[in-house]
Amino acid sequence: MAHRVTLIPGDGIGPEVSDAARRCIEATGIKIEWDIVNAGQGVWETTGTVLPDTVIESVKKNTVALKGPIITPIGEGFRSVNVAIRHALDLYACVRPARSYEGVKSLYKNIDLVIIRENSEDLYAGIEFEEGKDQTKSLIESIGKMSGKKIRDDSGISIKPISRFACERIVRFAFEYALYHNRKKVTAVHKANIMKFTDGLFLRTAREVALRYEGKVKFEEAIVDNMAMQLVQKPHNFDVLVLPNLYGDIISDLCAGLIGGLGIAPGANIGETMAVFEAVHGSAPKYKGLNKVNPTAMILSGVLMLRYLKEEAAASKLEEAVKSVIAEGKEVTYDLKSNPIDPTAVGTSQMADAIIKKIRD
Ligand code: NAD
Repeated sequence: MAHRVTLIPGDGIGPEVSDAARRCIEATGIKIEWDIVNAGQGVWETTGTVLPDTVIESVKKNTVALKGPIITPIGEGFRSVNVAIRHALDLYACVRPARSYEGVKSLYKNIDLVIIRENSEDLYAGIEFEEGKDQTKSLIESIGKMSGKKIRDDSGISIKPISRFACERIVRFAFEYALYHNRKKVTAVHKANIMKFTDGLFLRTAREVALRYEGKVKFEEAIVDNMAMQLVQKPHNFDVLVLPNLYGDIISDLCAGLIGGLGIAPGANIGETMAVFEAVHGSAPKYKGLNKVNPTAMILSGVLMLRYLKEEAAASKLEEAVKSVIAEGKEVTYDLKSNPIDPTAVGTSQMADAIIKKIRD
């Protein structure tokens, strides 16, 4: 029977990499009926919203989606559609494997890390108060009265909620992931020395959850700034990392850097009954429509999706085809060539064709 999967092409380079991933997934022989729905800047122009209800309804109905990146304007304009989708569907766990592939130029070899990022709260909760607004002034006044601390009158404020509930479920998810995938260690990353009531709660909860896995999976703690340094100096010392939302976002880009760039870093947003698969990278607007960027991150997100659908044979076939095309280094995009202006670099869709050919060989 065919799987029904929601496909959200996204904007910027989204439609190009989504199309490449869709074609590669279909080449494995798996039957998928795609329910194609759109979100982002493009739909705003026609519908007046960046996230039509039809998108959320489609994912709720199909329970699985493959999503291209969507633009979020910096500092002004609409809020992130990507964050809104994760919140609306309670996709609380963001899973981002960072694995070295032979043939990718990178300072490091044999990296094999998994970042588990909490997706539902922290500074991404979207609770913000704009500088100069009456509400902000009265909040500053109330905080002054309650804490005895003076916040400058011309401040903007972003709220960082961290709950015991969300910490417990993300750390449990990380340990269950480690057990299922035969991983040896979970490292909880925090800044509890400074933020005692938010990151402190995350760390205390992580320690409690870790006790339940004693003897099965090792537990370790690291302060986020020190973690950043250690990942650059000795990344092989780490295995599964679990982090609150903001640190998870930053550290997963750092880990993408360790394996050779955003072009090959896949991801998944997982909830209790639903999952949305998307690359770590964004919509790279300057490359929009150029058939230039690397489709691998999106295709590997498709591999994660096939595993979630329990289509292990198709997932392995696709992953092996990707590995083989990258290792040969011929029909790959500019970012995988030693010289980024190498004229033999192929386009997004030609790299997908090469992967499809490998699947069929
Ligand atoms: P980005 O990831 O879009 O691009 C940064 C740079 O990384 C690009 O200029 C390019 O050099 C490289 N890159 C990214 N994807 C690549 C690929 N597939 N192949 C080769 N090189 C690639 O980050 P940005 O420029 O900070 O963000 C652009 C927009 O994307 C913003 O609006 C941002 O909010 C949004 N964004 C969306 C998501 C998402 O949809 N989940 C994630 C991150 C950023």
